[in-house]
Amino acid sequence: MPLVEHSKHSQRLLVLALVLLLGGGFLATSLVSYQASLKSIRSSIVDTELPLTSDNVYSEIQKDLVRPILISSMMSRDTFVRDWVMQGEKDVGQMTRYLREIQEHYGAFTSFFVSERTLTYYQTKGVLKQVREGEPRDVWYFRLRDMKEPYEINVDVDMANQDRLTIFINYKVFDYDGRFLGATGVGLTVDAVIKLIDQYQRRYDRSVYFVDTEGRIVLTGAEGGPLGARVGTSLFDVPGLDDLKSKLSRPQIGTFEYHERGRDHFLNVRFIPELDWYLFVDKHEGGLLDGLRKTLYLNLAICVLVTLVVVQLLRRLMRRYQRRIAALATTDSLTGLPNRRGFELLAGQALQEARRDRRPLAALLLDLDHFKQLNDTYGHQAGDLVLQGFAQDLRDSLRQSDIICRWGGEEFIILLKDTGSATALQLAEKVRNDVAARRYPFKGVNLQVTTSVGLAEMHPEDALDSLIGRADRGLYRAKLSGRNCVCVEPSGNHDAL
Ligand code: GH3
Ligand code: MG
Ligand code: MG
Repeated sequence: MPLVEHSKHSQRLLVLALVLLLGGGFLATSLVSYQASLKSIRSSIVDTELPLTSDNVYSEIQKDLVRPILISSMMSRDTFVRDWVMQGEKDVGQMTRYLREIQEHYGAFTSFFVSERTLTYYQTKGVLKQVREGEPRDVWYFRLRDMKEPYEINVDVDMANQDRLTIFINYKVFDYDGRFLGATGVGLTVDAVIKLIDQYQRRYDRSVYFVDTEGRIVLTGAEGGPLGARVGTSLFDVPGLDDLKSKLSRPQIGTFEYHERGRDHFLNVRFIPELDWYLFVDKHEGGLLDGLRKTLYLNLAICVLVTLVVVQLLRRLMRRYQRRIAALATTDSLTGLPNRRGFELLAGQALQEARRDRRPLAALLLDLDHFKQLNDTYGHQAGDLVLQGFAQDLRDSLRQSDIICRWGGEEFIILLKDTGSATALQLAEKVRNDVAARRYPFKGVNLQVTTSVGLAEMHPEDALDSLIGRADRGLYRAKLSGRNCVCVEPSGNHDAL
């Protein structure tokens, strides 16, 4: 069986090569396209999307946060405000009307003026209070007064509005000679700003927050800053942002990539000079690359499936061809009967069964008489036709269980199971008579043929060779006896011709 083993081995190698080629090829293309998509998505986020979002958020901020600074700046330069103070703050109604106009016209949450001369805090409904040094709530005013900068942004409670947390833009007011007159400006509620940030976050699907020059988080949406960090905490103290810290030791503008708990983040930082804050626009890869990864897994699953199906189909095909080749190797192509190799396989088994079950078995060896002459007279084609007809007749007249085979040329062998020599002789005579009576029409001629038969019955010590050997001797005698007859070769007659 080394041939079978060898063919199994080469089949296995073929399947393995196919799996490697197909699987490897699929895997390589999937990974290459995944990497390419990953790269293009990353570069589109880093080079286009993030800066663009940052620009958009910035222009919204410009509108929503920077505008109040401009309004406050305008108030601080307003000649009415300055003249009114310099003329002695006479008509409070004039100032409150002015502040109300500003608040209503520009949609501010609150507007105010604090006079340095009288330390009076004016707002839209009139005088709110007097500011006092040492009063914690008024600290801002005295801080502003002593500041070099012309204004500050301060997040504080607004006494004029039930102490709501408010972002005040506090601007210094000077007279025409540069003397300090007081502070003015507008305020936005933090709630409103947080809503604005939440709006940006939703609209752009990014986290948006502000960090001051020291790295403290100053303004976030409702859910806080990175990893829920609250306003007032330093960005670099937030646990889990170590990778960001290593790339950004202090706030600075640019685009950064960092990892946080297995997620890739893309961060764009820009400076907003009007606020003196840094705007952080952060996008984690989550959703985007998840889809890409899902596609990769789907691709890989399809690869495995296709490879398995192809391998299965190939194996089935190989098995089918193997069976067909095996059948071809054991079948005679002219008559469709088993050939000598096929016979040996079948006969070995039949002999074994007969011996085991102690049942008789008979062998007939048939040889067509003067077949050469028939070929010579009518041609090879005629000979073939007779051989085919003869084979079919044998099949028709014998049982399914009998083994009929083309032994070679115009010789046939038959193994009759469960048949002793007497019955076998009757059968052989019938076959011989039938053949003699049979006509094979060929090109208008009725071809005729006879057969000589050698018969031997199996005895217990018989091997296939010895049984056939005896049948062959019987056939030889039949030929000698003038052909078209059956000769039984008795068992034990080993030494006869
Ligand atoms: P005998 O009665 O002694 O058996 O004489 P014979 O002519 O039949 O015997 P011989 O062995 O001399 O010739 C056998 C012939 O059978 C010769 C060969 O060409 C022919 N033969 C063998 N196989 C085929 C075949 O497949 N087709 C055809 N047409 N002829 C075949
Ligand atoms: Mg012959
Ligand atoms: Mg012959």
